[in-house]
Amino acid sequence: MATLFEKIINGEMDADIVHQDSQVTAFRDIDPKAPTHILVVPNKAIATVNDIADDDELVIGHMVTVARDLARKEGIADDGFRLLMNCNEHAGQEVFHLHMHLLGGRPLGPMLAG
Ligand code: AMP
Repeated sequence: MATLFEKIINGEMDADIVHQDSQVTAFRDIDPKAPTHILVVPNKAIATVNDIADDDELVIGHMVTVARDLARKEGIADDGFRLLMNCNEHAGQEVFHLHMHLLGGRPLGPMLAG
């Protein structure tokens, strides 16, 4: 069954898409935790970081360069931002389509809550 994010990538579900190319799609998180909260996802369905294949290195690298460019576009590059990927239960992963959170626009505090 297609995940929410596959539906967004395919245009079957609405989202505030800020970037899309042949490899990745980026859209604003529906429940933002910071003034800028964007999800960068591969168009290819990869469930978790554990499922990344060696052949996926190019697309994973592209996710980072897209996040870099979006941080500049959002005006948060110089002050700083956080890139985050949750994997499985202990990290609280909710959507099983690989995604990188781009968070910024305010001081983000310590990396972990406690
Ligand atoms: P994670 O906990 O790392 O799996 O993050 C999943 C993220 O997806 C959460 O920050 C949610 O707020 C976000 N999310 C869930 N559904 C949607 C949606 N339809 N559009 C945009 N973001 C979503």
